[in-house]
Amino acid sequence: MSLDRINTVVGGAEYIDEGARILRAGGLVAFPTETVYGLGADAFNPEAVLNIFKAKGRPQDNPLIVHYASVEDVKGAVSHIPDVAYKLWETFSPGPLTLVLPKSDALPLVTTAGINTVGIRIPNHPVALELIKKSGTGIAAPSANTSGRVSPTLSAHVYEDMQGKIPLILEGGQTDIGIESTVLDLTKDTPIVLRPGAVTIEMLLPVLGKVINHKGEVVVAESPGMKYKHYAPTCPCVGAKSVESALRVYSENPGAVIVGRDSFLSALPNSVTARSLGESPKECMRSVFSLLRELEKDYSYIIIEDFSDKEEYFALYNRLKKTTGGVLV
Ligand code: AMP
Ligand code: MG
Repeated sequence: MSLDRINTVVGGAEYIDEGARILRAGGLVAFPTETVYGLGADAFNPEAVLNIFKAKGRPQDNPLIVHYASVEDVKGAVSHIPDVAYKLWETFSPGPLTLVLPKSDALPLVTTAGINTVGIRIPNHPVALELIKKSGTGIAAPSANTSGRVSPTLSAHVYEDMQGKIPLILEGGQTDIGIESTVLDLTKDTPIVLRPGAVTIEMLLPVLGKVINHKGEVVVAESPGMKYKHYAPTCPCVGAKSVESALRVYSENPGAVIVGRDSFLSALPNSVTARSLGESPKECMRSVFSLLRELEKDYSYIIIEDFSDKEEYFALYNRLKKTTGGVLV
């Protein structure tokens, strides 16, 4: 495909079929995701992938992330999927988390910029998911900006940079998250955050137990309850040693809720989203499971008062320790 003098169309969901056709034919399509707009090509077509680098002016040593619509489809691009990847996908996919895994031989080296690993992501956006599903392949997609410019969060930003170079920009309004995905390397002994993003270390720790942050520091869950995690909500859940630490983690995690006794919650500002367990051990035991079941539906992160040093709440703490995987903040 030549990149000269293309008439660039900007269109909504009614253009998804056309987008999938272009991708299958080796062309480029920009599409919305929940992070930023991506510039997509068939990850298994080296010529198409090369055109991504050309259209962006991107150095060829900068690897592309390959996007899929579901976990089952990922197998074609990678040679091995560790159990921990499935656990992470259970919690964070579709979503703004890219996992770096060993690449398969079928995936061209141009896609991964010559390295033997590949970043994989399942974006949480209906247009992206339908486009990828209909294209029937993995979609290599960096941010849809000219290399060196800021990433696009509106189709108009994509148009500014890609007009005349690509045939189609799918419209999806303003992107929800606005910065690129968290990149987590799972090919080393300890998982490493290569690029921070909306999925934070605090959210990853309950699943991983130990992680190296993007500054190279090892961060460990305070007690190793990982293997025995029962009573666990479907969203990340941590214990909080103090109102201050609960508030700190709350401010870092949009969609979080703080749970505790009335006496713990009374120290929180009114603007904070919080739910009470009651006050006495009996009240707290009675409410805890139903409250967690309710909250996991409405919130993406649960912060619970820590009861480890409160003798009369021992039975409650015994369950909550498993709920949080022993992670304390
Ligand atoms: P962009 O798509 O523009 O957000 O860039 C994707 C970024 O993801 C790259 O610049 C790398 O930082 C990272 N990345 C993608 N694939 C890999 C990989 N196989 N190993 C390490 N980092 C990767
Ligand atoms: Mg980029």
